[in-house]
Amino acid sequence: NLKLAKELLNSGCRKYCDSFSCVCPVTEEAIQKVVDVLRSGNLVQGKEVLLLEEKIADHIGVKHAICLSSGTATLHLSLIALGIGYGDEVIVPAFSYVATANVVELVGATPVFVDIELATFNIDVLQIEQAITPKTKAIIPVHEFGLAAEISYLMEIARKNKLFVIEDAACALGARENDQMVGSFGDLGSFSFHPRKAITSGEGGIVSTNNDKLANEIRILRNHGIEINGTKMNFVRAGFNYRMTDFQAALVGSQFNKLETILAYKQQLAQIYLNEIKHTQIRLPIVPDNKYHSWQTFHLLLESEKRRDELKEYLKVNKIMTNYGAQCIPNMTYYQEKYENDSIAKFSNAYMAFTCGLAIPLYDLLSKEQIIYISKTINNFK
Ligand SMILES: *Cc1c(COP(=O)(O)O)cnc(C)c1O
Repeated sequence: NLKLAKELLNSGCRKYCDSFSCVCPVTEEAIQKVVDVLRSGNLVQGKEVLLLEEKIADHIGVKHAICLSSGTATLHLSLIALGIGYGDEVIVPAFSYVATANVVELVGATPVFVDIELATFNIDVLQIEQAITPKTKAIIPVHEFGLAAEISYLMEIARKNKLFVIEDAACALGARENDQMVGSFGDLGSFSFHPRKAITSGEGGIVSTNNDKLANEIRILRNHGIEINGTKMNFVRAGFNYRMTDFQAALVGSQFNKLETILAYKQQLAQIYLNEIKHTQIRLPIVPDNKYHSWQTFHLLLESEKRRDELKEYLKVNKIMTNYGAQCIPNMTYYQEKYENDSIAKFSNAYMAFTCGLAIPLYDLLSKEQIIYISKTINNFK
């Protein structure tokens, strides 16, 4: 078992990031695609970017997909394209990667936090309406860990209150609610290709939308505010450089072809965890019947921070590396100092998920035997 355990520690993607729970199988085929682009001399936003945009728009089921330089850039430009800025409020879940709230700060608006449900780690849709004020302009639901939020219901709330919706689907490419892909519900959908996500370009992201105007605005903003009309070129916005390189698009594109296979296999691995882990002090994630989980992260919940830290240490001794899932954002120093949030009282579920949660290994390079071994090791945790 020690040999197996060593394999567990040493497999995966340390070359690309130091987290055990990330997936980045860069195949020879993908490397060859990158080399081809390098040899072509067409390095930035060429035909590989266009091809990837077409493929992903088709997969999600939207009219437009626009490649950008990171997931954070996709959220940032989405807010700007919607005209959100100073004096506006944007509703975000209290438990997510901090980028979800940072982008609201970046455009000068105020993030208004709403607590999550512990069963799914997603925003508690029943608490959204009481957070809406006359200043509220948008909601950014996060499909946390690859599980769709209650997105259909959330869209009803948004439409009733005339709010925009940007889906933060950074870690949920391929996730579905009632067979509809995330990223196709809201006004805009945001995805990341960071190495911790299912497929990666190193850094990168993509925005999805059915709205022609928003798509055009984001294309202009990603490229310094440029507008090209026939042979004429003009700068109509103070834009950004949020472009993706063509070799990044080639890299992520060749993995994208295998996305559904990767997700189906992760589905099987997650099911083994769900069947095999039996421990009275550990709560397993719940998947509602109408959702297809993309299993970015398999997140356990312990009963206290102390027990969580003990489990982390115990697994480390057994050569199984773990990671923290996401942050209770109002509890981070920047947000605490600026808004004086009492996160422990106001966002008790987010605080619990942050302090008592633990992400265990789940990626497609692991074998079923390894997943069973990890499950048994967890079951023996005293
Ligand atoms: C990864 C992630 C981001 C940021 O994506 P980057 O590509 O790293 O900028 C934003 N939101 C969530 C929920 C994420 O998981």
